[in-house]
Amino acid sequence: MKPKHIEHIGIAVKNLEESIKFYENIFGLKCYAVEEVKEQKVKTAFFMVGQTKIELLESTDSEGPIGKFVEKKGEGIHHIAFAVDNIEKVLTETAEKGVQLIDKTPRKGAEGLDIAFIHPKSTFGVLIEICEDKNKK
Ligand code: ZN
Repeated sequence: MKPKHIEHIGIAVKNLEESIKFYENIFGLKCYAVEEVKEQKVKTAFFMVGQTKIELLESTDSEGPIGKFVEKKGEGIHHIAFAVDNIEKVLTETAEKGVQLIDKTPRKGAEGLDIAFIHPKSTFGVLIEICEDKNKK
């Protein structure tokens, strides 16, 4: 796998509305999309910084992955997402190298991207998402 760029950085927050205001007022960024991803029990907000996005994540359910994360670790950086080509191939090759995957096959994330997570146990503590935008091709 060779990531093309950092697609986004996912940041867990308790209050999406307040944190959107912070990014808009302090950094002068414009929130261009708010989207609920029911499957992952989150509401997301996106900002563009160069070619990399900031993805704010607020849990809609304390039992969801972001809800549990915030309870355990508090607000903060949750994951880093690498843009790749051919996500299926990347997943197969990564698994073959003995890396522990959370998702063996891609699923749909925010903005219609195909996404999959690599387990932080295999990545020195960082939850890494790989994603591919198949709509752009
Ligand atoms: Zn993400």
